[in-house]
Amino acid sequence: MRLLASFLLLLAGACSPLGDTPQTAAIVSPILTTEDAKDPFTFAQPEVARVTHVALNLALDFDTQTVAGSATLDILAADDADTVILDSNGLEISGITDEGGAPLAFTVGDAVEGKGSPVTVSIDGTRQITVVYSARNAEALQWLAPQQTAGGKHPYLLSQGQPTLNRTWIPTQDSPGIRQTWEARIIAPEPLTVVMSGLVMGEPVAAGDGKRAFTFKMDKPVAPYLIAIAAGDIVFKELGPRSGVWTEPVMLERAANELTDTEKMIDAAEKLYGPYRWGRYDMIVLPPSFPYGGMENPVMTFLTPTFIAGDKSLTGLVAHELAHSWSGNLVTNANWADSWLNEGTTSYFENRIIEELYGARRANQEAALSFAEMEKTLAEEGVTNPITQLHLPPDLAIPDGGASGIIYDKGAVFLRTVETIVGREKFDAWLESWFDRHAFQPATSAMFLADMRENLVKGDAALEAKLMLDEWVYQPGLPSNAVRPDPAAFAEVDAAAAAYAASGTVDPAAWAKWTAAERQRLLAKLPRELNDQQLAALDRELGLSKTGNNEVLFLWLELALENRYDPAVPAAEKFLSTVGRRKFVAPLFEALMEQGAWGPPIAKRIYAKTRPTYHAVTQGTVDKLVM
Ligand SMILES: [Zn+2]
Repeated sequence: MRLLASFLLLLAGACSPLGDTPQTAAIVSPILTTEDAKDPFTFAQPEVARVTHVALNLALDFDTQTVAGSATLDILAADDADTVILDSNGLEISGITDEGGAPLAFTVGDAVEGKGSPVTVSIDGTRQITVVYSARNAEALQWLAPQQTAGGKHPYLLSQGQPTLNRTWIPTQDSPGIRQTWEARIIAPEPLTVVMSGLVMGEPVAAGDGKRAFTFKMDKPVAPYLIAIAAGDIVFKELGPRSGVWTEPVMLERAANELTDTEKMIDAAEKLYGPYRWGRYDMIVLPPSFPYGGMENPVMTFLTPTFIAGDKSLTGLVAHELAHSWSGNLVTNANWADSWLNEGTTSYFENRIIEELYGARRANQEAALSFAEMEKTLAEEGVTNPITQLHLPPDLAIPDGGASGIIYDKGAVFLRTVETIVGREKFDAWLESWFDRHAFQPATSAMFLADMRENLVKGDAALEAKLMLDEWVYQPGLPSNAVRPDPAAFAEVDAAAAAYAASGTVDPAAWAKWTAAERQRLLAKLPRELNDQQLAALDRELGLSKTGNNEVLFLWLELALENRYDPAVPAAEKFLSTVGRRKFVAPLFEALMEQGAWGPPIAKRIYAKTRPTYHAVTQGTVDKLVM
């Protein structure tokens, strides 16, 4: 299909940079057409015909684990476009019609590994199509039995769309560079409540047969992976004038207490990088099978309950998801080669929010933990390995493919380095202006660097040389100008770890007053080989297997399993049976699988039992390790 010049002009002219509420037509966000912005993981040809708005009308069936109904798509197409191509994966499509209800011809192409199947629809002049379909056992959706919830009485549904899973329950163009507004009407059985990553449009209404219909709307164009749903026996508690938390009734007080700083975090984030543009900031604390720490679904951050420690020591997770309201949701990586634009920028921003709220000491400690994660990844992968580039080369730029130590942690170190070289005030002003100039639009590494050069470096050759921008983004390893963490951040705990090698003990009184970050640091710095007596003494003196902090518990279990410590197996089994967060689950199975004849039978026995309780995201990773 030929490109029409007028079509491209239309795209540019229709863009509303601030994403104000649409009057009649949906806001249309531009698409990028440069080679580095292309997404090989979509079948869509957005330069020919693209989806601009999705209207879902779906019913949830918990018995058959099916969503069924329709998706009505608004299409923006070149005048001579004959077809629009959608992404799908496992959808059962029974028909597609035009706005008048007349059937449209369509074909479903062969499935491609990691991509699903293209749905090619003849549009022949129509600019709105309705796909009638159902999705059973969609990978994005996890249907939980009542016993997998905290309350134990009602089933639960949660979704995870990023990176390419939403095509398993929504027939649309599932690419981060093709932004869409959306609305939804969702029917669920009573007494379940439905929430989505859009604003609630009024009270639920009776839909007959013991069911209720909930309606939602997102009037800002978003990357389609950000359409999210959860349903269960959930209740709401207000946290501030524009924030609140949803969770199961038995979790509500604990969750709300952990999140009391949310409104302050939003204020801090706005002070740093400009207005919060999404209206409300609500969160849902999910059952522990949620595969990620958090997911930045707009106006409804999804959170694992494992961040609840009782002392707000792990609320960096909330700062992270909130920061995505700028880096990731407002300005979005155009494809998966540039995930670091979402995650690295957010990890940097997260640390700035932590500094604003809790002070430099905690921020420096968390930055030092992140730096150590990066160093670990560089050591494991090798400093010449292209997987350690921020911008990933095509063969490594698969969805969910980058190493977190790079796209999160090296990305954050890059921005911290630029900040240190140019000065905080100038850097902050530039980053705010970057978000502003690219609000509600996709972006690439090349655009990020070009914008930085134009608006921050401004032709200063000496500054350009100091920054080493291309080396940071396009080369593996760590550039020589990297800003290292404050050595004072962990001075005391590093000394204690060194002393342990000589004395064999850690002072429980010192441990008791350490921060969560210091405790994590100690566990990471202890000798990796310990015998049963040493492990028993550590557990007894520091209360490791009884800690309420899941990051600390995870590090303890990992250390214990790496040393084939039998007494830790029941605790590990309990943890793996209740928590589905991939960051914890995968390394523990990996630790077991690496332990000669001892670990693999234990891993296989536990996984046979726990696999059905994990989301497809976690299953996909652990399958490769254990099966
Ligand atoms: Zn993130």
